[in-house]
Amino acid sequence: MSNPASHRPHSAARASSHRKIVLTSFNDFGLAEPILRALAEEKYVTPTPIQSQTIPFAASGRDVIGIAQTGTGKTAAFALPILNRLLANRVRPEKKSCRVLVLSPTRELSGQIADSFTAYGRHIRPLKVSLAIGGVPINRQIRDMAHGAEVLVATPGRLLDLVQQRAVRLDKVEILVLDEADRMLDMGFIHDIKKVVAMLPRDRQTLFFSATMPQEIVQLSNSMLRDPAKVSVTPQATTAEKVDQRVILTEKPAKAALLAELLKSETIDRAIVFTRTKHGADKVVRVLAQAGLRAEAIHGNKSQNNRERTLKAFRDGSLRTLIATDIAARGIDVDGISHVFNYDLPNVPESYVHRIGRTARAGANGIAISFCDHEENAYLRDIERLIRMQIPSTNRRTGNRGTQQARPQGQSNGHNNGHNNGQHRQNRPHGHKKHQHNGRNNRGHSGNGPRPVSNGPRPIAATQPAQQAQPAAAKVSGGIENVTFLGQPRRSAGPGAPR
Ligand code: AMP
Repeated sequence: MSNPASHRPHSAARASSHRKIVLTSFNDFGLAEPILRALAEEKYVTPTPIQSQTIPFAASGRDVIGIAQTGTGKTAAFALPILNRLLANRVRPEKKSCRVLVLSPTRELSGQIADSFTAYGRHIRPLKVSLAIGGVPINRQIRDMAHGAEVLVATPGRLLDLVQQRAVRLDKVEILVLDEADRMLDMGFIHDIKKVVAMLPRDRQTLFFSATMPQEIVQLSNSMLRDPAKVSVTPQATTAEKVDQRVILTEKPAKAALLAELLKSETIDRAIVFTRTKHGADKVVRVLAQAGLRAEAIHGNKSQNNRERTLKAFRDGSLRTLIATDIAARGIDVDGISHVFNYDLPNVPESYVHRIGRTARAGANGIAISFCDHEENAYLRDIERLIRMQIPSTNRRTGNRGTQQARPQGQSNGHNNGHNNGQHRQNRPHGHKKHQHNGRNNRGHSGNGPRPVSNGPRPIAATQPAQQAQPAAAKVSGGIENVTFLGQPRRSAGPGAPR
């Protein structure tokens, strides 16, 4: 089918590269009518920033490297221009081949990406979107790919299995999407990705997305992309400004009872509890069960069916508490999460921002409560440096390792007044929720100086003299009445003690 507007993306791409025109409507992209119709049905009115930036370049056939995390609308940012290109050049996919290959790190994310292609492409017929993920029998996927597909969404391991069994061939791929490249790296997929890329035609379009850009990712992207357009949206760290955050300094053995205590609060609608390990996740499920609280864990050791069942229950509200590891939770798209608990603090500070971002979706505010035992002090410091604020804390440590003051005297433990004052509750498009505050230079570990934050928490003044502690006691908003956050730590053993 020809697309009457097929030339417009080129000019839009040029306009965008000059940064003179901000595209504020999907109609501006020159997308074909069946796609626009689907978007209208999805009730997408305004493109998110990653969409405004990416779609013109991708629709014009250019390689793109995008720095964006899940939740910013990046799936549509690549899916819409891809569908437009498929429509502009309608040829049947060859047997066992796909025209578009999307690589994603997890089964959940892959499933969601495939669903998005199907939804945005619902008026494009025929359009076959296939899924190749581990954890489910391979035979159905072999049969499914026998006649080829326009779009194949795959996790790298299963894709290579299919290639090895000669059920899939990759020499006809026209467009490659690599999603969540940094997570792929974390999960050890780098060699699989390189193997896959080596099998693809050199003459292809590549769209490459990553939430962070460590050196290995830069190298990987250099080896895969040709003269890419670079796009990025607000760094993850600004997500933190929308979430009401608290730290409870505690002892490791006391965490389970503390969690049970907090979860008994009726004001929790839907909570995700993050643990560092799969084993840890299962243990939390068990101890909560002993306290009479139902929770389910989701992680890589669970079968695909089990994970899907658990997620469905969490989505429909029949399961209130989900215990997850970082990897399992990545890409889960569930709105209405009122609370995120960090049972263990992550050792990678960016993961903290990903985690708490789960609760600030769809323009909502949320509450993130982190438990920090003695061994996690350094993680907390790294996190606070990344997000450039000190998280209000309360001290529940018993002092077994020498009674400690929660924070050096004078550094804010106080409640963040003036924050979460309702202004984020506006009903704005889902994809807009994470990038209200622009500029991506507030990430990373360099630069300790305070950064002005418009309506958010006070920045850390690492090089400044101690600030006045806030005197008022403040309860965690959202009704967890039994945990009081004090301006001064509860158990104080004198100023200056390390946390
Ligand atoms: P993603 O980052 O692709 O996982 O998208 C996050 C959520 O935003 C998904 O639930 C999408 O359906 C939704 N979404 C994406 N783009 C838009 C848009 N332009 N307007 C409203 N919602 C959107």
